[in-house]
Amino acid sequence: MICEIIFTGTELLLGQILNTNAQVIEQELSALGIDLYYQVTVGDNLQRCAAAIKQAAGRADLIIVGGGLGPTEDDISREALAEALQLELVQDERALEVVRRFFDRRGLPIGSNNLKQALVPAGARPVDNPIGTAPGVILEHAGKTYILVPGPPPEFNMMVREQVMPYLKTRLAGQVGVIKSRVLKFCGIGESLLDEKLGDLLKSSNPTVAPTAKFSEIHLRITAKARQAALAEQMIDAMEYRVRERLGSYIFGIDDDTLPGAVTRLLHEQGKTIAVAENFTGGQLAYQLSSASGAEHTFAAGLVAREYRLLQEISCLRPGDIPAAAKERAGYMAQAVRKQFGTDIGAAVAVHRPVGEDCAAREYSLYLAADCNGRLMQRKVIWSGGRDEVARRAATLVLVLLWR
Ligand code: ATP
Ligand code: MG
Repeated sequence: MICEIIFTGTELLLGQILNTNAQVIEQELSALGIDLYYQVTVGDNLQRCAAAIKQAAGRADLIIVGGGLGPTEDDISREALAEALQLELVQDERALEVVRRFFDRRGLPIGSNNLKQALVPAGARPVDNPIGTAPGVILEHAGKTYILVPGPPPEFNMMVREQVMPYLKTRLAGQVGVIKSRVLKFCGIGESLLDEKLGDLLKSSNPTVAPTAKFSEIHLRITAKARQAALAEQMIDAMEYRVRERLGSYIFGIDDDTLPGAVTRLLHEQGKTIAVAENFTGGQLAYQLSSASGAEHTFAAGLVAREYRLLQEISCLRPGDIPAAAKERAGYMAQAVRKQFGTDIGAAVAVHRPVGEDCAAREYSLYLAADCNGRLMQRKVIWSGGRDEVARRAATLVLVLLWR
């Protein structure tokens, strides 16, 4: 199946906003093995949008339009689709229900211009939108599929992931049988090394192998199409085997597994317990390690101090002063919590005074440490950015350190 996406919005052409919806849908399409040959951005102009739809229909089987489903004058995607296919726009009761529910929940009367959001080209069906006013639209017409999705990113993402992709999956399955996928989750490896090691596998067309990266983790989705479910599973197993042969030591889990969950499972298997001391991450590490499934067997306690000197007041950190240098402090804290709580592992985060006036771009020197029965592992990282983001990353990196 060949797809073409049309993004509408003059603000995209003026560079006022970045097209973040593109990445979301590209990743989802590639995971299903749908080919995307062209992607077009067009302003909020009825004729040009209709022309873009016609052009796309000449070279793709699936045409997805993002944005332009709002209630205002410049929202023209419904009209453009009707115009391109020479169809009437008709009021749809199910679409009206989506719009009405939005206003009812807020105790507001439905706006008169919102009524146009309940229009769909004749023969189309609306797609529910639980978080906005604009229903999406799916139309099967003359052997092609046309899908309209609202532009605001939360609505776009939710509708694409929860409605459009399942719809396409069922459609494709009608052609090939079944589509199955599995996500392998990696940590401790960068995208470029993964790319280098898996290069040829990433080009496979069935199953498809598609990576997506987020901080410290890479998710590799393997998707197979086959006549029967068992066959699709076998194809996925075979691909997973090939991936594991090359990079198995970086895989911490599959599908719904999480990194704190993987660390907890590992500790539980080894019969080990852990305590943490945090002087920057505000308890994030303790939260993640204490809420993972199985944590009742592995997590003992956590200490949180914003001001490191306060840690001296805590009994476990006596006797002896806590080193003032963050570098030595992290190791000291890890050893101290381990001894205090009698665990096998102590993990700690310490921060050196951040540098920079601008809160959003301060530079933080962070020291991370894990003491495993007396064997100390330490890492130093320098990151700049907002405090929240840096703290979140620091907590995650300690988990990576524990997992490796
Ligand atoms: P609305 O009801 O808000 O008008 P809509 O479906 O008509 O929704 P647009 O008017 O195209 O969508 O866009 C609404 C807002 O969503 C834009 O102001 C913009 O901030 C954001 N947006 C639209 N398209 C994109 C995109 N491709 N990437 C990121 N943000 C987008
Ligand atoms: Mg709009």
